[in-house]
Amino acid sequence: MLSAVKVRKHYGAVQVLKGISLTVDAGQVMCLLGPSGSGKSTFLRCINHLERVDGGRISVAGELVGYAERRNRIYEMNPREVARQRRDIGMVFQRFNLFPHMTALENITAAPTGVRRLPKQTANARGLELLDRVGLADHAASYPAQLSGGQQQRVAIARALAMDPKLLLFDEPTSALDPELVGDVLDVMRQLAADGMTMIVVTHEIGFARGAADEVVFMDGGVVVESGPPSSVLDNPQNERTKAFLDSVM
Ligand code: ADP
Ligand code: MG
Repeated sequence: MLSAVKVRKHYGAVQVLKGISLTVDAGQVMCLLGPSGSGKSTFLRCINHLERVDGGRISVAGELVGYAERRNRIYEMNPREVARQRRDIGMVFQRFNLFPHMTALENITAAPTGVRRLPKQTANARGLELLDRVGLADHAASYPAQLSGGQQQRVAIARALAMDPKLLLFDEPTSALDPELVGDVLDVMRQLAADGMTMIVVTHEIGFARGAADEVVFMDGGVVVESGPPSSVLDNPQNERTKAFLDSVM
């Protein structure tokens, strides 16, 4: 479902991604760990066309994404192609980024009715179904300000699901939440994983990674330092940097 080959990205003189190669199979969950500044968000942003890569290539569901290096040049897809691809990639951010002037249900149906041109009734029915799935059936008419951070994040997940993404990216989805609200969000994510959604999750929640990830990738300084099943990377790390990081978050 996702393939990244030698992805490079720099900002000015700072090389942020120094050749990231990894793959995620359909239905698999990859948890991406690493210290602040290691390039995790940048990598997700490259997958989702929010950034252009400087080298290497990324493909989603077998199709090259946005920009790709060919014969040492970066080729760019036409904007309509890019827009079409972006619809297949859902993203959930640390700060939920809901539209404050729209209800929970309106937040969820905005893209399906606007971008996919789904009839309003169909989108509403599906939106209510998704709200139920994230445990918020009673909050369709609530505005973001009336919801807790955890509830807002679950609306954001439902909003991403409403576009039927092939791939769902999470960038520290629980980092901005009060501790008592984290569990409900992780439960929703575990359920999605169990339902077969392909997910890349940047998180410091080691317990979630241990239980839900098929593969754990540890990044530091713009490179993949270590990767493998949770049982090896989390419980038997080989690299000193991985060990030090896990000691700091566990
Ligand atoms: P992480 O998500 O792992 O904390 P990021 O991908 O956010 O790391 O950032 C990696 C590095 O790139 C950091 O040093 C950060 O300061 C830098 N960086 C990120 N975005 C930008 C940007 N838009 N312009 C300049 N530097 C950036
Ligand atoms: Mg980040």
